[in-house]
Amino acid sequence: MSFATAINCMDGRVQRPVLDWMEQRFGARWIDAITEAGPVRPLADEPESPVVASILARCDVSTGRHGSRAIAVVAHADCAGNPAPEEVQREQLARAVRLLRDRYPVATVVGLWVDEKFRVHEVPVA
Ligand SMILES: [Zn+2]
Repeated sequence: MSFATAINCMDGRVQRPVLDWMEQRFGARWIDAITEAGPVRPLADEPESPVVASILARCDVSTGRHGSRAIAVVAHADCAGNPAPEEVQREQLARAVRLLRDRYPVATVVGLWVDEKFRVHEVPVA
């Protein structure tokens, strides 16, 4: 697989850890970058909002034109854009994963939690 897709926070601290994790996990050469401030909050709580429409439009390009078949959506500790507690962010993350799985059934969609030491954890979502 050449392309994969990261729906990440815009926080500069979490960019490289997520890129490195995705390269290893998916063997992707290029990671398309879709960033917002705390993207799991609108994906979970405002799925009809313009920001979600923008995220999905970019994800359509990544899965369509670039043929990405692996999408990661990211939440992280100390998120300024989504200052909700970790347990709330993890619930939002799970809902975001489910929304993306519905929208992109051909892709593998994973939820990632980046902890306060910038370690990346894949969060199981049923
Ligand atoms: Zn953040």
